[in-house]
Amino acid sequence: MSFDALPLRPQRIGIVGGGISGLAAAYLLSPQHNVTLYEAAPRLGGHARTKMAGLRGDQPVYTGFIVFNYANYPHLTAMFRDLEVPVKRSDMSFGATIDNGHVEYGLNDLAALIGQKRNLARPQFIRMVRDILRFNARAEAVATSDEVTVDELIGQLGLGDWFRRYYLLPICGAIWSSPVDGIGAFPARTLVQFFRNHALLSTSGQHQWWTVTGGSVEYVRRLEARLRLTGAELRAGTVRPGHHGLPFRRGAGPAGRPVG
Ligand SMILES: Cc1cc2nc3c(=O)[nH]c(=O)nc-3n(C[C@H](O)[C@H](O)[C@H](O)COP(=O)(O)OP(=O)(O)OC[C@H]3O[C@@H](n4cnc5c(N)ncnc54)[C@H](O)[C@@H]3O)c2cc1C
Repeated sequence: MSFDALPLRPQRIGIVGGGISGLAAAYLLSPQHNVTLYEAAPRLGGHARTKMAGLRGDQPVYTGFIVFNYANYPHLTAMFRDLEVPVKRSDMSFGATIDNGHVEYGLNDLAALIGQKRNLARPQFIRMVRDILRFNARAEAVATSDEVTVDELIGQLGLGDWFRRYYLLPICGAIWSSPVDGIGAFPARTLVQFFRNHALLSTSGQHQWWTVTGGSVEYVRRLEARLRLTGAELRAGTVRPGHHGLPFRRGAGPAGRPVG
């Protein structure tokens, strides 16, 4: 059921998971409804997290949900505006270093592309660049169904081994923080749509990327404060059924917090 279709009469709603998805759902629902948010971990945020690291413990490391743009994230950015989350421009680019620097290039500009002068003398490298342009121009027309896998798309477009190994697998692994082994079997249309939406098929530049000043902790903290203000009940350290097969516990949550 869409949020718009929910009856106006206040409902009791339980949300399982206090990552950005659960927090955002609670943010939208709690002004009109009685919301209880269950989060297994002792803290809210899920992947959206800032951890301090480094020798002096003063270097923030963001473990998820780091960058966004205004074209693809209309709901997130509207929420950030409402919560006055501080944001700043970010530079997003792709570069690969393969086999301990045997092959290295970046996609920022021409200088990055031929950062290694020997790239110019490598026919496979020149072919890879040609294949990237070919993929960008033709992938959408070929990947019209989710039945077609990424490997099949590569075959149909006649793209070479360097394109697959040194461009597509590394960029997909970077985008989805995923092992590259499964990418060949991934549905091609979904991948190509993602590339299109994020302007990765375009030769005329990308969306401007942004990041949160101070990291994910800034919006998680503000969301938590807003949810408390709108009366949502936040139960961190509470496992709902289905999570790692653990039963829903009444009495005490895993972190010793009261449940139920
Ligand atoms: C390294 C990295 C970088 C990323 N960078 C970006 C980025 O820059 N931009 C971007 O758009 N995306 C990025 N992503 C993806 C983004 O972080 C995730 O898509 C997003 O955080 C997922 O949010 P979520 O709320 O759906 O899930 P999660 O953050 O995983 O939250 C789910 C929560 O539900 C809880 N839970 C699960 N089951 C139960 C249960 N039964 N009971 C109670 N609680 C339960 C879990 O403990 C968890 O806290 C990145 C991901 C990674 C790993």
